[in-house]
Amino acid sequence: MRVHIISDMEGVSGIVKWEQVSGGESLYEEGRKLYTEEINACVRGAKAAGATEIVVMDCHGAGKGWTFNSLIPDQLDPDCEWVVQDEWTEYTEFLEQGCDAALFVGMHARAGTELGVLSHTVSGTNWQNLWFNDVLVGETGINAALCGHFGCPVLLVTGDQAVCAEARELLGGALTTVEVKRGLGRFSARNLPPVVARELIQDGAKRALSNLSTVPPWDPGRPAEIKVQYSQPRDVQKLRFRHGVEVVEPRTIVSRADDWWTAWRQFYF
Ligand SMILES: [Zn+2]
Repeated sequence: MRVHIISDMEGVSGIVKWEQVSGGESLYEEGRKLYTEEINACVRGAKAAGATEIVVMDCHGAGKGWTFNSLIPDQLDPDCEWVVQDEWTEYTEFLEQGCDAALFVGMHARAGTELGVLSHTVSGTNWQNLWFNDVLVGETGINAALCGHFGCPVLLVTGDQAVCAEARELLGGALTTVEVKRGLGRFSARNLPPVVARELIQDGAKRALSNLSTVPPWDPGRPAEIKVQYSQPRDVQKLRFRHGVEVVEPRTIVSRADDWWTAWRQFYF
């Protein structure tokens, strides 16, 4: 069984402030330790469920050389390999080869979510809203669409209460979710102790992989229309001559294609 663990940092238990997820800040070193241990818990659960190949992909933009590079290499479980990418959604090799399941760890809610800890979509400063065929989505939706394009189902989402609700709403109530904290605001939360969160993630991963057909691969629909509302017209102007991209308002673009992956690549890279 081939399992892709796709992860972010803001949804880890004990992480509540930007300084814990921003490379170079003194609090970041503790944050990446908490993050690495939640990944290890997920790896243990996947292994217990029978996974034979586990590849972790860090999707957290921590800044500078830490971007997509926040895991602590020599503390990682020896039964996984991990990818450091240069651009988000760049690494698709493992999905292209065929993956049985994806497990999302440490996720945060989409931009504007009332009680979403560190909530944002792609960029906390440059992006305001994102829709796939008129469905408002966050990063769980982006990663799920990427996996779905290659026929891979998402079977587990972990993070705060808000992102778990967002994920179930998007992918269906059969999705296994693990809530490791409850947001009280964007920068405040009631957390489970990390040791407890890790036990729940390990158990959740094992349970989620016990039946690979509980949640179908997610396709936002064909043809695909991706709409992005940016914060500033400047972000739109540089996209106006892209194939398949239309500027529909000064701060909003629409990218249209036969399938989601083509529509995403048209404007994102
Ligand atoms: Zn992140």
